[in-house]
Amino acid sequence: MKTQFKRLRGMPDLLPQAVAPWHQLESAVRQAMRAYGYGELRTPLLERTSLFSRSIGEATDIVEKEMYTFEDRKGESLSLRPENTAGCVRAAIENGLLQPGSVNRIWYTGPMFRYERPQLGRQRQFFQTGAEVYGLAGPAIEAELILLSARLWRELGIIDALQLEINTLGDTDDRARYRETLVAYFEAHRSVLDEDSLRRLERNPLRILDSKNPDMQDVINAAPALRDSLSEASLAHFEQLQQLLEASGIGVQVNPRLVRGLDYYSHTVFEWTTDQLGSQSAVCAGGRYDGLLAQLGAKDMPGVGWAFGMERVIALMDKLGKTPEPATADIFVMGSDEVTVADSLALAETIRQQLPDCSVVHNTAAGSLKSQFRKADKSGASVAAIIGGAELASAQVTLKPLRGAGEQTSVPLDGLGEALQKMLANEV
Ligand code: ATP
Ligand code: MG
Repeated sequence: MKTQFKRLRGMPDLLPQAVAPWHQLESAVRQAMRAYGYGELRTPLLERTSLFSRSIGEATDIVEKEMYTFEDRKGESLSLRPENTAGCVRAAIENGLLQPGSVNRIWYTGPMFRYERPQLGRQRQFFQTGAEVYGLAGPAIEAELILLSARLWRELGIIDALQLEINTLGDTDDRARYRETLVAYFEAHRSVLDEDSLRRLERNPLRILDSKNPDMQDVINAAPALRDSLSEASLAHFEQLQQLLEASGIGVQVNPRLVRGLDYYSHTVFEWTTDQLGSQSAVCAGGRYDGLLAQLGAKDMPGVGWAFGMERVIALMDKLGKTPEPATADIFVMGSDEVTVADSLALAETIRQQLPDCSVVHNTAAGSLKSQFRKADKSGASVAAIIGGAELASAQVTLKPLRGAGEQTSVPLDGLGEALQKMLANEV
């Protein structure tokens, strides 16, 4: 028996009939990034494992159990990128983009890999689009990044289903202070903590706040708030951001429990969430990561960014009926049995030359005109272009509208583009 290969779990194929919303999303992204002056950065899918463990943090879920890590033939540990903030910083440093005083606005899009339990909205290969800015410390750039994301949601028709949640983690000193308070608090409630949280108590106590365990919610809700450990300067930063967002007409909800799963964040963190996608409610997430650039070897320089899950955005577009129909052919080219396949092939080429934006399908298989028309119908094309013996002899082509009203006509080859355009425009 022949082996039939199957795709890996959590690594979906994207079929031609499902690609239209991706194209729509991708072009909206390119347009928005251009409008805000962000440049695209493409980094490799594979990096050294240490880049991720150093930046995302040893004690995070991603590094502890979600990375695809393996040794290459020389024994070097490599990982498929689970996210791309680290890769972008690595590339910016390595390529000399981070000169003192410089500001870089970049964006990226592409597949990420995490060994998670696949479920609706959660895959092992998934796509993220992200935006990152290096070199700006104030809240204005956070507001800009949020406005950029809001523009995208508006463009895609999904903004009404999204809620912006923000929080602040303060700076390193604030967090160190808070960490002590929090550890003392959870130590006093050890008996309620599950195994995961006990482990986090040593390594990453803030993450306990993010636990979804229902038995722990009471003790989590009563935990001391980070807000009380914040310095004046951190509070002012957060206040200013809220004012900027309000002035820009962006509604926000402060969520003091928002902590994010990656270690590199400081000050502002935010998420766009929806109640339309079940439990995978976070569509876009980001924040400030001022310590990260220095940690990866740059001069001390602030950074901030976000990333959204493209599958989740498309799922939301779909849920709200905002996805486009699959693309179909415009023109179907066929030849009668009085002409050769070379004749109809040449006709298709002529049409493509005259109408470079049209989708032209050539019927390469011969057959009766009746069966060719059936194929034309199935292709979804609006117009059939037919070449037969008489047409060949008189340098003409017969055009037949396939949808709606309209007469079949014969037109000379040199007026073909114009006639086709008219016919396509009449199409309802
Ligand atoms: P979650 O809490 O859903 O696991 P996260 O905090 O791990 O998300 P980030 O690393 O911040 O997610 O990634 C940003 C966005 O990428 C998420 O908000 C989500 O939309 C998307 N995303 C993350 N992991 C996956 C996945 N395994 N499959 C599909 N989308 C994902
Ligand atoms: Mg996750």
